[in-house]
Amino acid sequence: MNIIQEFETIAAISTPLGTGGVGVIRISGDKSHEIAKKITKKDNLPAGKICHGWVYEGDKKIDEVVILPFKSPNSYTGEDVIEIQCHGGINVVRNVLDVVLKNGARPAERGEYTKRAFLNKKLDLSQAEAVDDLIHAKTSEFAIQSAKNLSGVLAKKIAEIKGGIFEVASKIVAGIDFPEDVKEPEYSYLRENFEGAIKEIDRILSCAKSSDILRQGVKVAVVGRPNVGKSSLFNALLNLDRAIVTDIAGTTRDVIKETLDLGVAVTLIDTAGIREDENIDKVEEIGIEYSKQSAKDADLVIFMYDASEGFNSADDEIYQIIKDKKHIVVANKTDLLNGDFIPVFEDTAALSAVSKDGLNELKAKMKEIICDFSLEDTEYITNKRQQNCLERCRESLIRALDAANREELQDMIYIDLKSALLSLDEITGEVINDDILNNIFDHFCIGK
Ligand code: GDP
Repeated sequence: MNIIQEFETIAAISTPLGTGGVGVIRISGDKSHEIAKKITKKDNLPAGKICHGWVYEGDKKIDEVVILPFKSPNSYTGEDVIEIQCHGGINVVRNVLDVVLKNGARPAERGEYTKRAFLNKKLDLSQAEAVDDLIHAKTSEFAIQSAKNLSGVLAKKIAEIKGGIFEVASKIVAGIDFPEDVKEPEYSYLRENFEGAIKEIDRILSCAKSSDILRQGVKVAVVGRPNVGKSSLFNALLNLDRAIVTDIAGTTRDVIKETLDLGVAVTLIDTAGIREDENIDKVEEIGIEYSKQSAKDADLVIFMYDASEGFNSADDEIYQIIKDKKHIVVANKTDLLNGDFIPVFEDTAALSAVSKDGLNELKAKMKEIICDFSLEDTEYITNKRQQNCLERCRESLIRALDAANREELQDMIYIDLKSALLSLDEITGEVINDDILNNIFDHFCIGK
């Protein structure tokens, strides 16, 4: 993205392209109000007032719309902004955007609105990243957590840590610059402050693993012999008919993936039945290889056998492949049992994928194990970039603490404090280079 073009007026469709009640076109930049007046044939579009009218191309009516005018700096981007709400069909939205572009705006690039909001200090970088997280959240829990960062929870915490380090650094500088008037701070004071800051950083970093899990979700593979009911379970868990279910062994030849919301996004992987058989054709053989791989890559394996047939040696062969992974044993088809179910393994989830008896218990068990991946209380959501900055800040503080323990010259300690502060500035974007910035906003969608 080219920063020189920053102040051109930009326009894009901000709602998904599809059929819906309303579609939104957003225009941002100095010319936005002028363009809106021209295409609606209105002399006045007062900021903060909802206006109603038509969008015209020449004398041709394009759509009846609602116009929301914003004046700088009171807008999302901090610039003059116009939002046009038109009818939500793909073509009508495109037609309105077309008229806007013909009248002086250029198409917005990915994330350009949020980037302008950041450059105009409407958001810091951690909040801008939270916007992207919020839009792409795979679960409602992650959306809630991202909203916390959008409201500035992480930014506030970083500012607090930064404030503490800054105060110590200022005292060191004063002691160095005015040795006659200002006493350099006690080493015990330095140690206490550095330890405090490291503890706070550790508190944020202790949520890194659960942050990653909340963001990316976990992979759960369903494995077992052909025909035990894996695809049926897959469909039952997702409440849909995604996987093909037949009684012909080897129907699921590839790996099917879908996302299930269990608080954490669960990528459910239905694998081809694992079967050692010389009649297996090439395609199924590849499927079986995939299954072994999926089981290996999965965070959790659901190993399934047919309770009505009992656990046999073929089941055991598959069980041996997955037994060292985190797994749940599922005995399916309990509806076909004549007598009581006698589990082979302790803690087996007995169910019927057809009648759905036992399905909720399985979901609860899955949730329990997934939460064990440490989701307890995710106080701070961070992404890899932010975690990396925090780790670098921590390293600088550890060096400063070591130096304070050895009562080294405070000039040297000051250098480490400066680099700790720089790492924190990168999180909120006070110090950031164009490449990193462009990399962040290039991942956004157009219109955001
Ligand atoms: P997969 O090869 O392991 O994926 O098995 P499928 O899900 O394709 O199921 C194989 C057959 O078993 C189909 O005819 C299903 O309808 C049937 N089936 C699956 N689960 C159950 C169940 O819980 N009870 C009964 N009675 N039949 C089931």
